Amino acid sequence: MAERARGRGEEGPEHVFFSPHPDDVALGAYASLLGVPRGIVPTLVTVFSQSCWEFVLPVDPSRAMAVTSLRMGEDRRFARAHGADLVHLGFRDTSLRAPPGGPAEPEAAREALAARVRLALGEVLASVSEEALLYVPLGISSHVDHLLVRDAVRALRGERGVVYYEDLPYSAHHPEDEIVDYAWALGLSPRCLDMTTLWSAKLRGLSFYASQLEPQTLPAVEAHARRLGAGRGLAERVWTVAP
Ligand SMILES: [Zn+2]
Repeated sequence: MAERARGRGEEGPEHVFFSPHPDDVALGAYASLLGVPRGIVPTLVTVFSQSCWEFVLPVDPSRAMAVTSLRMGEDRRFARAHGADLVHLGFRDTSLRAPPGGPAEPEAAREALAARVRLALGEVLASVSEEALLYVPLGISSHVDHLLVRDAVRALRGERGVVYYEDLPYSAHHPEDEIVDYAWALGLSPRCLDMTTLWSAKLRGLSFYASQLEPQTLPAVEAHARRLGAGRGLAERVWTVAP
């Protein structure tokens, strides 16, 4: 499913934001989204848009339609408010494939899913230029849905134009050294993006995803931003292959 925000005809490379779940871009790549040059319509691609995750265990798969509809509505309103095109790929997230507390997802099922995700993202990228900037999650905390999206884009495009944003709120729960070592092992170098004056805008952006914000989410996101700001304010961080 795709929604167009407005007509094209803009100058410069496309900016495509790959979001494993509705909210990941608002959480981790908000500075990058706000930084898209005026005149360029960003594209938001939400990959695992089917869910029954309501923050209580056990999950209730019979709630999948209601939860999915709620999440898609939140995503749609966020995209509209930020002038972005929106694509929902409709994959089932881990709450539906392998609910927490249950058996792990079989390896063969995971591999088949990875192939389908690669195929779907390949179709999205078929109409995206080689010069495009592609934002993917870094993969901190190894959430399988995040890794599937990251690895599919890397498999399809290599490192060219790929920008890795930090997964939140997960990154807040890792020491700085662990994050840096994880990113360096991927051959990446950091860039901090100042969010100090944009923080209230980020909170407004996150408020679109009210159904996914647990009470501890915003304090964790802010704590990570302050850590990155190193006493001088608030920041997000992205990683890229050093030129
Ligand atoms: Zn996510």
